[in-house]
Amino acid sequence: MEYRINVWATRLGETEIANFAQAVTNRHVGEGPLTAEFERRFAELVGTRHAVAVPSGSAALMLAMLAAGIGPGCEVIVPAATWIATAHAAHLLGAKVVLADTEPGRPVLDPQAVERVLTARTRAIVPVHLGGRGADMDAILRLAQPRGIAVIEDACQALLSRQGAKALGGFGTMGCFSLGVAKLLTTGQGGMVVTDDDEVLARLKLAKLHGVKADGDWETYARPGMNFKFTDLAAAVGLAQLQVADERVAHVSAIHRRYSEGLAGHPDIQVCPIRLDEGEVPLWTEAQTANPVAVIAHLAKAGIQARRVHPPLNRAPHLDCPGPVPHATGQSETILVLPSGPAQPLANVDIVIERLWEYRR
Ligand SMILES: *Cc1c(COP(=O)(O)O)cnc(C)c1O
Repeated sequence: MEYRINVWATRLGETEIANFAQAVTNRHVGEGPLTAEFERRFAELVGTRHAVAVPSGSAALMLAMLAAGIGPGCEVIVPAATWIATAHAAHLLGAKVVLADTEPGRPVLDPQAVERVLTARTRAIVPVHLGGRGADMDAILRLAQPRGIAVIEDACQALLSRQGAKALGGFGTMGCFSLGVAKLLTTGQGGMVVTDDDEVLARLKLAKLHGVKADGDWETYARPGMNFKFTDLAAAVGLAQLQVADERVAHVSAIHRRYSEGLAGHPDIQVCPIRLDEGEVPLWTEAQTANPVAVIAHLAKAGIQARRVHPPLNRAPHLDCPGPVPHATGQSETILVLPSGPAQPLANVDIVIERLWEYRR
């Protein structure tokens, strides 16, 4: 179905086109100087010492877990509410995914739920900053650090979102970002792992190239790895996207404010709160309602696309984590994503708001 207003809108502009053309002209194709520059600027943006570019957010998570030594016999704690990529990174490496429920009022990992599932085999905790909402990093680090457990932040939905003075993704041992199409900045596909730790960086770099040193000893198979290299063609686009980062933060925040004000007092639909004043960035705007399916159908009749959030991960049989996870389950049954995105005109948001006021249960 073709929609008049899509649930997501992003764009590449003139600078992206010019940078891309220049990369082609200069034969900057595979991973090279543009990727190195993109990594440097990305680390600067997030406020970490290092960033390592990879082909996707999913690859970022898997590379981070490889660098953390995750494998058979390890348990990795993941929130029940996330895109399943978070869990698959651990699962595909042979680790046991252990689900913990989300906070009662926010769709982020609940430290108390983490505490209940910690064991002597726990090797990593993966807080996911869903929709830009920061998991309680103080509490999670307090649980992890004394036990020597790695904290791998899934900040794929939280680029430039802050908690206190620091950007999300910069609190843990490593932070993972996505540059997919439905993220704040995009290179088509892409991802980043950030870290402050030089030793972790060395392990990331090795695991990114089948365990050999890219700029050194090709003859020593130091550790297992993959080909998780980036491309300069994508980095050329990424460097242009970095220039619009602040603009995009302002725009998605404006969309969220517009929905919040426009839907205030609605009897059936409430915008899900986010801590804008504390620097959280609403990648998209979600709303809570008794029957998301009915609201989505109501919008579709007007040519407006909305979508449900992902079902909780206890529904993935191969993870073998039956739950219960009541908070994540309740959230998934009552939340929908409204048309959003860095290139979504505010005029579209107004049309959606108007249509939502015509919704009756
Ligand atoms: C997008 C996303 C990923 C995966 O990123 P890709 O670039 O799509 O592989 C992982 N976790 C979360 C929370 C995401 O939103």
